Amino acid sequence: MWKKILSESITRPEEVSVLYGLDMKTTEKIVSRYPMRINPYYLGLIKEKDDPIYRQCIPDPREISDQRGHVDPLNEEALSPVRGLTHRYPDRVLLLVSSICPTYCRFCNRKRKVGNLSMVSEDSIKQGIDYIRDHRQVRDVLLSGGDPLLLEDDEIQWILERIRSIEHVEIIRIGTRVPCTLPQRITEDLTRIMKKFHPLYIHTHFNHPMEVTSQSALACRRLADAGLPLGCHTVLLKGVNDEPATMKSLMQKLLSIRVRPYYLFQADLARGTSHFWTNMKKGLDIIKEIQGHTSGLCMPHFAVDLPGGGGKVPFLPSYIVGKEKNLLIIENYRGERFRYPVYEG
Ligand SMILES: *Cc1c(COP(=O)(O)O)cnc(C)c1O
Repeated sequence: MWKKILSESITRPEEVSVLYGLDMKTTEKIVSRYPMRINPYYLGLIKEKDDPIYRQCIPDPREISDQRGHVDPLNEEALSPVRGLTHRYPDRVLLLVSSICPTYCRFCNRKRKVGNLSMVSEDSIKQGIDYIRDHRQVRDVLLSGGDPLLLEDDEIQWILERIRSIEHVEIIRIGTRVPCTLPQRITEDLTRIMKKFHPLYIHTHFNHPMEVTSQSALACRRLADAGLPLGCHTVLLKGVNDEPATMKSLMQKLLSIRVRPYYLFQADLARGTSHFWTNMKKGLDIIKEIQGHTSGLCMPHFAVDLPGGGGKVPFLPSYIVGKEKNLLIIENYRGERFRYPVYEG
């Protein structure tokens, strides 16, 4: 069923140009540089031109006029000891296991190579697993891509078995947009496979309340019922979710489908995505709108993945607004001020 949906995706410039009255030549140019795929499920979430779903998946001429972004914003290639594996932090690695996605996000930070079948191969996956086996400090493996859950069930099982057989690997995580962009992929068969490899965490990726549908809720229910903890990466995107009320509503809806917000990312400085960038203040305003106003479970870590490979750094609004002798002046979510003692030693 999910394969049929995927096979009916829009991938050709003329299809999308006709649908939304876009200039065909320009669309051809964009799509030849950054591939397009919009599967019918995700396409069906678009209510009108330029809405938050449209903006995430329909090519925009600014993608090819952008001069500001970096081709490899997180310097993943330089921190890559073997193709497809990034080892940036002491105890965990990122391993790419798929080159394709159910829908290509126009703001993708791996825009430079996603959709390109030479990005990942059986050989690169094997070498990545060998690297993990040879490095005892790796206790956490994050599978990404492309979307790992677009692999066949038996391929997913093969990869999970190999990684699970490495004694020093404690946890495995899968980064996937499938529960949001192709929820039909989360079949009973797939969850039966995945539940054999606990502790296995799913990091999914929703960006707007319109993406929370009965189908995505069903996919998340299946995953959660299989004992897979669900976290969410959300990317802060201009014109999509940069209103505090929208973000608060998304975080609340995620909890209602058993997904715990994990990160809210400042959009990476990837080439071809500058029309999505927001001012840092936006993210802080959003965090202020959530903290205290709604359940603490709704609160993601607002973080920036530093250009050049510095890694993720959290940003927080400051609630300490002053100091009087040994008293801190602290503001709560309503803007009321309180004094709190700083105890010595
Ligand atoms: C994001 C990322 C991780 C995981 O980071 P956490 O903060 O542990 O979720 C690991 N490796 C790379 C290269 C990453 O970009």
